[in-house]
Amino acid sequence: MPESKSVEVLPMDSHNRLLVSRVHPGDWTNPEPAGRYNLVAIGGGTAGLVSAAGATGLGARCALIEKHLLGGDCLNVGCVPSKALIRSSRAVADARDAGAFGVDVSVAKEVDFASVMERMRRLRTGIAEHDSAERFRKLGVDIFLGEARFVSRDAVQVGGHTLRFARAVIATGGRAAAPPIEGLEEVGYLTNETLFSLTELPPRLGVIGGGPIGCEMAQAFGRFGSRVSLFQYHPQILDREDAEAGRRVQDAFRRKGSNSSSIRGCFEWRGGRARNGYISSATGRLGRSPSTRCWWPPEGPPTWRDWAWRRPASNTTGAAASW
Ligand SMILES: Cc1cc2nc3c(=O)[nH]c(=O)nc-3n(C[C@H](O)[C@H](O)[C@H](O)COP(=O)(O)OP(=O)(O)OC[C@H]3O[C@@H](n4cnc5c(N)ncnc54)[C@H](O)[C@@H]3O)c2cc1C
Repeated sequence: MPESKSVEVLPMDSHNRLLVSRVHPGDWTNPEPAGRYNLVAIGGGTAGLVSAAGATGLGARCALIEKHLLGGDCLNVGCVPSKALIRSSRAVADARDAGAFGVDVSVAKEVDFASVMERMRRLRTGIAEHDSAERFRKLGVDIFLGEARFVSRDAVQVGGHTLRFARAVIATGGRAAAPPIEGLEEVGYLTNETLFSLTELPPRLGVIGGGPIGCEMAQAFGRFGSRVSLFQYHPQILDREDAEAGRRVQDAFRRKGSNSSSIRGCFEWRGGRARNGYISSATGRLGRSPSTRCWWPPEGPPTWRDWAWRRPASNTTGAAASW
């Protein structure tokens, strides 16, 4: 009997159906746990997959537990879909700017946003094969689909199975968390978990957070034709990067904004009410919280000695939430 819950990735077209069949197959049957594992990885995102594949390659007996989609944020709602959109948006920008290089291209007035998103879903599904349950099973990793829960210092439960281990990696990542902004709930907002399910271009988009991903999405949607406002608490976007680099990007946004009015800079926002727009708390330290609603064993949280830990990476986005 399949034990995994069926999951949906919207829109449930042929690409997303194939995606789900790779990274959370509806007919998946969890294996019988094999004695005591050398390593159990909890979370099948980049960190969990790499831990499991690496340990198995070194001869360890390894299990990996994923409650939603193998590949985690990066494959499903992060690096992969965002980079696909950025590539399409670069094609738009290249075509629009071609005249400056002496190339005459006739540019359609409107971007076919539905096709852009369809391309993204097709590419994502292709890449999903590398993170698929079947591929990892063939590598020798025991894949368990379901939510992991510690039941003691050396055992974790998933579905009806108890997995005993010598070491565990908690690689449960993070999720978008809504920042405390007045009016945000009433307006409604997108996060990285919903942004890539869009099939229609939002006419206006407010992007909260001027870190790398906020800037990437602001630029891409601006190029597609959304009227984008980027809200950043600090006086400069990309405030954790080299100051000169941040200034250059900010100047380019302002220049483009004034040329095409597709990207408007609102770089010194200090709170207030968001109106008439989509809010995308895409990612970044502004809007992420760790997925560690877990599940310490009854005897309390583990110590450094008990576990193989992943420390929070202070200078990255989603990875900051893996403990
Ligand atoms: C829009 C966007 C663009 C990005 N672009 C880039 C980029 O270009 N380059 C880059 O390096 N990084 C990028 N990132 C960051 C990158 O996606 C993350 O750093 C990476 O996904 C973190 O991997 P992870 O394995 O730590 O966590 P995640 O990918 O979040 O995986 C954690 C997994 O654990 C599972 N899980 C949680 N709790 C449990 C439980 N109790 N039981 C079982 N499973 C559980 C979750 O379902 C999830 O699949 C981007 C992120 C976003 C949002």
